[in-house]
Amino acid sequence: MRRKLAAGNWKMNGTSADLEQIEALAEAHAGALSEIMIATPDTLLHRASAFTKTGPITLGAQNCHHRESGAHTGDVSAEMLIDAGASYVILGHSERRADHDEHDEDVRSKARAALKAGLRVIICMGEELEEREADNTLDIIGGQLAGSIPDDVSGETLVIAYEPIWAIGTGKVPSIAQISEVHDFIRLRLEQRFGPQIARGIRLLYGGSVKPANAAEIFAVQNVDGALVGGASLKSADFGPIIEALD
Ligand code: PGA
Repeated sequence: MRRKLAAGNWKMNGTSADLEQIEALAEAHAGALSEIMIATPDTLLHRASAFTKTGPITLGAQNCHHRESGAHTGDVSAEMLIDAGASYVILGHSERRADHDEHDEDVRSKARAALKAGLRVIICMGEELEEREADNTLDIIGGQLAGSIPDDVSGETLVIAYEPIWAIGTGKVPSIAQISEVHDFIRLRLEQRFGPQIARGIRLLYGGSVKPANAAEIFAVQNVDGALVGGASLKSADFGPIIEALD
């Protein structure tokens, strides 16, 4: 059985004062059945790890470089993230694809480096509104799956987040039927590429305006194994009920 995953993406938010949110979550959800991951900014990882040594919370980063080390000013390697306390890295988020011109092949090489170093990867993909309206969603997702996922993955190390770009930070959420269609499609493509055993272990998260009010309905969808949560992961009062809906 796949262990459910509630993953928070703090994006470029949070300073040391916000570590109390992680401390509060760790206390309130010490007995959670689901895994809880929080991707803080890199600057907070080391201090946040004080609250995640025991209990269900793990830490993640939001990007890494595709090389192990070297002359790459301003960049951070997968090994450095592990050293700072991360066990996950989010890759291919639409904001990175847009702000840093990251393409599927960049995401794939970063994922390779992250997996080699020992991180688990959450690879994000999703369509633009115009692509959805033109009925191209499954083509787009199929292309992103083929292009951004490396070959040497396992059910334990790979997580995929379906995040329609038009749903991120907008309060808009696809219908349950739309979420279900895309998640079933991703599972099928994974089976075709990696075989049923590996595909069955890979967790598929939905992301985009997940809130306490809509979480339970989304989590009831068959191939939804959790969520990647942006805005509502910043405060334990919002993220807590989402975790409870998943449990
Ligand atoms: P949101 O962001 O929950 O604020 O919509 C989701 C994400 O970007 O991962």
